[in-house]
Amino acid sequence: MTALLEGKTALVTGSVQGIGLAIARELAGEGARIVLHGLATPEQVAHAEAVLHAAGAPEVRFFDADLRDVAAIEAMMDEIARWQALDILVNNAGIQRTVPLAEATPEIWDAVLSVNLSAAFHCMRLALPGMAERGYGRVVNIASVHGLVASTNKAPYVASKYGLVGLSRVAALEYAGAGSRESGGVTVNCICPGWTETAIIEPQVVARAAEMGGDRQAGVASLLAEKQPSRRLSDPSEIGALALWLCAPVAHNVTGTAIPVDGGWTAQ
Ligand code: NAD
Repeated sequence: MTALLEGKTALVTGSVQGIGLAIARELAGEGARIVLHGLATPEQVAHAEAVLHAAGAPEVRFFDADLRDVAAIEAMMDEIARWQALDILVNNAGIQRTVPLAEATPEIWDAVLSVNLSAAFHCMRLALPGMAERGYGRVVNIASVHGLVASTNKAPYVASKYGLVGLSRVAALEYAGAGSRESGGVTVNCICPGWTETAIIEPQVVARAAEMGGDRQAGVASLLAEKQPSRRLSDPSEIGALALWLCAPVAHNVTGTAIPVDGGWTAQ
């Protein structure tokens, strides 16, 4: 049986750990070549490469472009294009800074907006024309429940994720007519996770645990009780499974969506 993504090449930004690595592993499991990316130590890179080869990736190439730097993004996209046609782009890399709006410095604003939103724009403008030409392409943007609803102390993050949802909808419309059912079409969608067990939530977990006498589990339970009705964290592999489904031919008519994986958070 042919693997679903055999012959395809996927760039997953921020894939050296967390949700990005889980997505890359799912895509690798269906035979995709992986462009591994992120800011990481050589040990982290070696670990991620081993995970992806073990999952079934025929080839893995690592890039460490800093997504705050447009020239670095352009150089990475250019080098990828000279290596392989890019079929799948997952804009996953992201950063979080929790701070009241009036205390968010210009540096915080610029960093969050550049990694979470502008980098996705630059990767998309460079990847989408080639996808349209070939009749198949998938852009999966990892937004957040914070692309759909707000919370206090997250102004730059919420602004970036709402922006990412809007950007994705425009791209979905502009490319909706590309390709065919047979070729797979070009789709652009967002996944909007709620609380998911990765490093990015750690500062918030630690802060809440400190309010509860240092009990980490109580801290997690308290954060969940506040927002996520299921009261369960998501595992990164669950986001990976949805990303893989969006990349499948069967999803050729699913475009412009922002799909929550949030235990009911945004249903409230
Ligand atoms: P993480 O901190 O484990 O991973 C973030 C990744 O982004 C890392 O691989 C890192 O190398 C990369 N990155 C950060 N800054 C970068 C830069 N300047 N240049 C290049 N790469 C950079 O966190 P995660 O939870 O796996 O986050 C993945 C995505 O999921 C993010 O966009 C995040 O906003 C989103 N998200 C996470 C949650 C959650 O609860 N974990 C919820 C909603 C949305």
